[in-house]
Amino acid sequence: MSRKLTSPVVIATHNPGKLKEMRELLAPYGIATQAAGELGLTEPGETGKTFAANARTKAAAAAQACGVVAFADDSGLVIDALGGEPGIHSARWAGPDKDFRSAMNRIQTLLIEHGAKIPERRRAHFVAALCLAWPDGHVEEFEGHVDGIAVWPPRGDKGFGYDPLFRPDGSDRTFGEMSAEEKHGLPPQGQGLSHRARAFIKLADACLSKT
Ligand code: IMP
Repeated sequence: MSRKLTSPVVIATHNPGKLKEMRELLAPYGIATQAAGELGLTEPGETGKTFAANARTKAAAAAQACGVVAFADDSGLVIDALGGEPGIHSARWAGPDKDFRSAMNRIQTLLIEHGAKIPERRRAHFVAALCLAWPDGHVEEFEGHVDGIAVWPPRGDKGFGYDPLFRPDGSDRTFGEMSAEEKHGLPPQGQGLSHRARAFIKLADACLSKT
């Protein structure tokens, strides 16, 4: 039996794009949230070898620091032709200046070096590992992914990070060209589109009830 989520929840991220999406996903459930940045929390180092391990580290550190439930996401873009990179290193590829334009250029340069010009050679997926951690050490963990291709050139100015580079299967538009609602693709209209929304649907089924 999963543990139910109650207010308040600390959202353990300093990434404004993720924070916005995590708040949007929680909004229908009437859960009061505070962001780690607003509380002056520092981010622990991401030393894990998996998305799930890094999400657990971030959630557990925030839960311990604040004494309330913490909600963390570790996510990234996995490109088949690059052996899964940038993967868990997705944030690091953008450097300290968070320059995703240059990270996308680096991906394109490497894909061309690998001869990956046609869509079939540019398969990619986004992964999101979500973790809820309680101060007593209990955790609930969920994962979602979405398959697609790495397009070139990047398209759209919505979303964040690698959104303009990624076109999910079944769509002719990149995440960067989609509204937040379309990227989430939540029920009743959809079954969840983004990796984060797909993981969140599992979390909501297990740990939340609509107000
Ligand atoms: P981390 O989870 O803090 O290690 O950072 C994950 C990085 O992956 C983010 O900084 C983004 O660059 C990228 N990423 C994760 N999810 C998304 C998304 O939904 N859209 C675009 N980029 C994403």
